[in-house]
Order: sequence, then C-alpha cells, then structure tokens
Amino acid sequence: MKIFKTIKSIQNNLSKINKAKSIGFIPTMGALHEGHLSIIKKAKKENDYVVVSIFVNPTQFDKKEDLIKYPNTLESDLKLLKDISCDFIFNPNADEIYNSNIKSESFDFEGLDKVMEGAFRNGHFDGVGTIVKKLFEIINPDKAYFGEKDYQQLQIIKKMVAINNLSVQIIPCAIFRETDGLAMSSRNTRLNKEQRNAAPFIYKTLLKSKELFPEKDMDFVKNFVKNEFKNNSILTLEYFEIADSELLNSSTSKTKGKEYRAFIAVFAGAVRLIDNIALN
Ligand code: AMP
Repeated sequence: MKIFKTIKSIQNNLSKINKAKSIGFIPTMGALHEGHLSIIKKAKKENDYVVVSIFVNPTQFDKKEDLIKYPNTLESDLKLLKDISCDFIFNPNADEIYNSNIKSESFDFEGLDKVMEGAFRNGHFDGVGTIVKKLFEIINPDKAYFGEKDYQQLQIIKKMVAINNLSVQIIPCAIFRETDGLAMSSRNTRLNKEQRNAAPFIYKTLLKSKELFPEKDMDFVKNFVKNEFKNNSILTLEYFEIADSELLNSSTSKTKGKEYRAFIAVFAGAVRLIDNIALN
C-alpha cells in the first residue's frame, strides 16, 4: 500500500499503471468504519487498482464546529486499509488541494441541491461538488464509488459528472448498518451512551414509514413520523421528506410508476445523523 500526500507524487505513480488496467476510486473523509470498508471491498472486486482518498474537505462544512470536531483517526484508518490490501492512499492537506484559496466552485445542480441537506446546510453541495471534481481530475478513475447513505450527494455527483461530461462511472453502494439498524457513520463515535442507545429509532421509524407507504397517503406518513419523534426525548427531528428517487423533489402525492425514497435528518444533542430508505 502506497500513501501519497501530494498531487504530483500520486499522479506520477498512477501514470505508471498500464492504460488497460482499471482504477476504482473511493473518496472519504477518514474515520473509517465497516461502511467505508464494504465500499472499498466492492471496488477491489471490480477494478485492477483501488485508490482511497482521505481528506476532510473544509468547503463542505457549513458549521466550523463540525469541521473542527470531525474525528481524525488517520493511524487506524491506514491500518484498516493495509489490512484489506488497498493499493493507493491519497491524503493531501488543504493547501495542496486548494492552494490557500479555500473556496467552492458554484454549480448548477438543477435544483438537486436546494432540498433537504442542501436546504439545511448552506453551501454544502457546492463544497462536495468542488472537492469531488478536483479529486476526479487528479486521480482520473474509471469508476468512483459513493454510498447511498448520502443519497442526495450521490445524485448530485451523478449530475456533476453529466454536466462536466466526465468519463468516470459512478457506482452506488448500499447503506451499511450496525446490527441494530443504525446507519454506520463517522459521527456515531460522537454519540454518548444514551444517544447511541436511542439512535436505532431512526431506522426503525424509516422501516415503519416504508410499511405504511403502500396503503397511506404521503401526508399521513409524514405526520406519523413527526409524531413519533415528538415523543422522543433524546432525538430531535430536523426533517423527514418523501421525494422522487431521481429528481429528489419533495412529493405530496404518489404518481404511478415513480420511485420514492424517504429521507431523514435527526439531532442527538449536537450530533446530526442522516438516513434514507427506498419506499417502493
Ligand atoms: P465520508 O467519509 O463520510 O465522506 O464517506 C465516504 C463515502 O462512504 C461516501 O460515499 C459515503 O456515502 C460512504 N458511506 C459512509 N457511511 C456509509 C454507510 N454506512 N454505508 C454505505 N456507505 C457509506
């Protein structure tokens, strides 16, 4: 496993790879868990070489506090990556990526960025688009892997690739969960015991919404979820939305043949957790 801190050094090494060989790429912000590893293992099966980036991207944080508190576990991350025989790690610092101009590019994601995470996290998706585009330019992968845990991000990356006519193929990866249903996330380590015990309620409620969805109208399902959280003293609902799986626009009534997904964001104290589920 080779670790690179500079653009020049990783590009130098990647350029030595035979052009007929495929490169799979997984961008991460580190603090790796089984969810990340499941994606990396999938990429390893589907490609000749795998590149993982570890970079906590400053431009996608709307709250400075979240950026400062983002867990840094580089040493154990590198051990996990070595254990699963990852080929290349790209671990630059912010100056290497942004050249001391830490700013986002402005994208037109055709409305995908205006709802849910985009509505609650100002500038978040311009930051995500900026870093992923930069990393694609540096690594030039054949395939790039993104988790459905961040489903809106996945749709936005697909749009960014289409708009910029990039040749990389975007591969969605299923949400990896703890045995009690909580979606794995680097933020879970910030939960205290009480919050961690309460957190599986998020997925349980998503499952109930999926159960109700075929029989009930959308407002019924939305109100049901809101009421469930009203009675929860540890978890505070930020939003629950039902949206078209492709366009992500919030839906109030069902259209036959369309696929829908439920999206949720919840606070456990200062820790913000997100999850989603396919409804049909
Ligand atoms: P992050 O390090 O949180 O930016 O995540 C890096 C990639 O891993 C993103 O594509 C995430 O969607 C994905 N990911 C994070 N957690 C999970 C999970 N529990 N299941 C599947 N993918 C995940």
